[in-house]
Amino acid sequence: MKTIIEPFRIKVVEPIRMTTAPQRERLLREAGFNVFLLKAEDVLIDLLTDSGTGAMSSEQWAGIMRGDESYAGAKSFYRFQDRIRELTGFEHVLPTHQGRASERILFELVGGPGKVVPNNAHFDTTRANVEHSGAEAVDLPIPEARDPRNRHPFKGNMNVAELERLIQRVGPERLPLVMVTITNNSGGGQPVSLENLRAVRAVCDRHGLPLFLDACRFAENAFFIKRREPGCDHKPVADIVHEMFDLADGATISAKKDGLVNIGGLLLLRDESLFQRASSLLILTEGFVTYGGLAGRDLEAMAQGFEEVIHEDYLTYRIRSVEYLGERLLSAGVPILEPPGGHAVYLDAAAFCPHIPPAQFPGQAVVCALYRHAGIRAVEIGSVMFGASAKASAPHPTQTPPDAAPSRLELVRLAMPRRVYTQSHVDYVIEAVTEVHQRRQALRGLRFTYEPPVLRHFTARFEEA
Ligand SMILES: *Cc1c(COP(=O)(O)O)cnc(C)c1O
Repeated sequence: MKTIIEPFRIKVVEPIRMTTAPQRERLLREAGFNVFLLKAEDVLIDLLTDSGTGAMSSEQWAGIMRGDESYAGAKSFYRFQDRIRELTGFEHVLPTHQGRASERILFELVGGPGKVVPNNAHFDTTRANVEHSGAEAVDLPIPEARDPRNRHPFKGNMNVAELERLIQRVGPERLPLVMVTITNNSGGGQPVSLENLRAVRAVCDRHGLPLFLDACRFAENAFFIKRREPGCDHKPVADIVHEMFDLADGATISAKKDGLVNIGGLLLLRDESLFQRASSLLILTEGFVTYGGLAGRDLEAMAQGFEEVIHEDYLTYRIRSVEYLGERLLSAGVPILEPPGGHAVYLDAAAFCPHIPPAQFPGQAVVCALYRHAGIRAVEIGSVMFGASAKASAPHPTQTPPDAAPSRLELVRLAMPRRVYTQSHVDYVIEAVTEVHQRRQALRGLRFTYEPPVLRHFTARFEEA
């Protein structure tokens, strides 16, 4: 059989409500043409982010009832710890409330003024936590990542030669660690190969540096390795996951992605003394080491989520549904960042509406058109988010565009929540984007009526130019 189906049936449904075109016109104007200011109930298909928006399984909900809410030493913690040790091989496992809490603890311990932290591409909260510590965050993507049409199979790879040059230039003593983000979220959800991880590890070993993973989408990355890396197609995903983590000295993880939960995070460490110091910081601001700012039931849901996410029929469906969206848009002539990523498809808004200059926010125009036309919520990742006065140096739920792009990319991200939408929802999105693309000449740019000084995409208001 060639048809790839959703590998689940639906036990609980959450109604979504279609609005009329005149209603959406009014709601969009009331929201100042900023979809962050819409109420979620007025959105039909919400592709704002894949973070914490997934559906839990019946076993995860059963875990919610089993949750042991003891302050210290809860059964749920040990179940969680066992699962993570088995999955990653890491001895030291700290739960946190989400990824950025792990980052804050890590960089408070290893960051600081004068330090330099390289990454294939920092996610924005990671960059913000590195910079908050006083250190400098440096992105080292491969050159292929700068070209939206380049279909490199591992476009998320780190530029190993540039890493070596950076170490020569600043000196290894200024680097507390090297970080690799899998998949490379800021670079379009693109995977990193095992070969690249091994090459980065070799550089780290030569200079005595620890390697850390930002492993939010480790399972999607492992599945891409299985599909694309020579000699890996016969390996179970669980083995590839182990191979990736075996190369690392530590990892920060947001469980809101491949943990298949709505809240949660992890900090994984090998070094005993770093683990002791991280535990103290965790207790200071998050909670005791056996709950880390979460409820016992959250730990149960995570333990189960980290089991389900490496099931290969799940990953086949997951990666295929994003790829299906991307490939169908391409064949309808819609320009996207290629190849489609693991968790999202990025529309190339500059190519989509070349008649709108960057100063009038082509990405925002496409976002507004998708909501107007079909009730779909996407997110602009372009000049609104990263324009002149948007010093995007504090946490927000989306992400930076490929940093080293020759000119800033004007992107619109369609992020797919996990196990939430069916193929007919995806077909609806394809039809909507295609129709908006056919009428792209009618799209109008926008200008600010209210421009906040920082993180302006959240609360900005616009009018049509
Ligand atoms: C989401 C994300 C984070 C931060 O995690 P939160 O749970 O949102 O705090 C860090 N790195 C990457 C690559 C992410 O996608």
